[in-house]
Amino acid sequence: MNGARHPMPARDPAERIKSFEEVALGYSREIAREEAARCLNCKNAPCIKGCPVGVRIPDFIAKVKADDLDAAAEILHADNNLPAICGRVCPQEKQCEGMCVRAKAGGAVAIGALERYVADIALGKQYAKNETSRISDRSETSQDVKNADSSGKIIKVAAIGSGPASLSCAADLARQGVWVTVYEALHKAGGVLMYGIPEFRLPKDIVFKEIEQLKALGVSIVANVVIGKTLFIDELLEENDAVFIGSGAGLPSFLGVEGENLSGVYSANEYLTRVNLMGAYRSGAVTPVLRGKKVVVVGAGNVAMDSARTARRLGAEVRLVYRRSRAEMPAREEEIAHAEEEGVIFDLLVNPVKIMGDENGFVSGIRLQKMRLGEPDASGRRSPVPIEGSEYDIEADEVIVALGTTPNPLIKNSMPSLEVGRKGVIVVDGEGRTSVPRVYAGGDAATGAATVILAMGAGKRAAKAILEDLKVR
Ligand code: FAD
Ligand code: SF4
Ligand code: SF4
Repeated sequence: MNGARHPMPARDPAERIKSFEEVALGYSREIAREEAARCLNCKNAPCIKGCPVGVRIPDFIAKVKADDLDAAAEILHADNNLPAICGRVCPQEKQCEGMCVRAKAGGAVAIGALERYVADIALGKQYAKNETSRISDRSETSQDVKNADSSGKIIKVAAIGSGPASLSCAADLARQGVWVTVYEALHKAGGVLMYGIPEFRLPKDIVFKEIEQLKALGVSIVANVVIGKTLFIDELLEENDAVFIGSGAGLPSFLGVEGENLSGVYSANEYLTRVNLMGAYRSGAVTPVLRGKKVVVVGAGNVAMDSARTARRLGAEVRLVYRRSRAEMPAREEEIAHAEEEGVIFDLLVNPVKIMGDENGFVSGIRLQKMRLGEPDASGRRSPVPIEGSEYDIEADEVIVALGTTPNPLIKNSMPSLEVGRKGVIVVDGEGRTSVPRVYAGGDAATGAATVILAMGAGKRAAKAILEDLKVR
């Protein structure tokens, strides 16, 4: 009962590469209670220090053990606005679970899996309850009068982008009665949760339902509005008391090698958006995607794993090429293991130097150069050093580049007084205040590509700063 960590039940690899259904199946009630019993309820709870939003981990786990799931959900929701999502995608091994004292005694307590278990059950109950009275957008008449500053004026905040940073900021503000309107460039809310992370890892139904819950708090979401094109931050500031920028880091980086403009080369962002948001994996989709037979994915983060596993599901033989070794791969451990189980071939310590094309301008192959590991760089990881004369060619008909992203310059270009730093990230203080009065920012837009929970933490800090600065009573 108190022994080794319970593994997450998962679909069989041979079956799962034929569909986009969720791979991780979640704990049963019995397994969840057994896993919860492994928690030692440590007095100083080091696991909480590993969680960027400070979830009261031992408290919620104690409620799972006692089978009081309503109380467990209440504890989770007090700090985490999107627990069903975080339970699935947080890099727990580097965060909460990385700090768990049980790591060396049977494995860290499966905090993420327990979080998912509690949140899914709460979501099921809540959604069933709300479906008849379908959660509606905020209306003037439903507004609570506590939404006011010290002079009694209603506080209004606009958020740019509907990813986890804005959603978390908006939810915390709405809980204090602030009117929040979230503007999203795409036709669906959720940011990367909706357009980037694939269905087999994060079902869109879960994202949709968690967002519906936030809307029930009074958050209004307006889709198909590009701030910096359709509306400008100055205009938002005329209508609102503050603006939060949570526009993410959606601009892909490329290799900069010959052949990168050939047909069949995608940025991972475009590839995954076509498949996830536009449903390109379904027959007859209006936004199709090339279905290569020999696909090369460049990179080794979560985005690369998602691209490789997506290409497998679309029927390709997939090679993932990475210039460092396995130990330096930045992806979540579970994603690396799942990719291997699904037959993704890892070509490590190699770097693309050229993409070759056929007479019609389509990708026909890729030239790789072998690398060795040198001294650690600024990130602490050993840097790759090219081995002269080691180049070789492999066949490929599609290349997906997953080398990271930076913030889109549109926001900065539309507001020159907004200070940005290296790679275009918005400069903020510790609470999310930018160089422009009443304008706040957080998430990938202010850090560069990072994680869901860090974006959420930044959204929460900015919400607190907005409330303090506007002196909401
Ligand atoms: P985003 O989620 O990027 O949301 C920004 C939103 O703003 C987007 O919807 C965008 O359309 C909108 N927007 C942009 N500009 C404008 C504008 N001018 N006007 C209006 N709207 C605008 N993190 C993890 O923790 N675990 C994972 O497993 C993981 N896997 C990932 C897999 C993929 C494929 C990708 C791409 C990322 C992954 N990440 C993962 C990273 C994580 O998703 C991001 O760090 C997180 O979503 C950042 O949140 P955000 O709110 O800052 O921005
Ligand atoms: Fe761990 Fe993420 Fe949950 Fe925090 S939100 S407890 S880091 S899984
Ligand atoms: Fe439980 Fe591990 Fe946190 Fe201790 S560190 S309270 S065992 S989850």
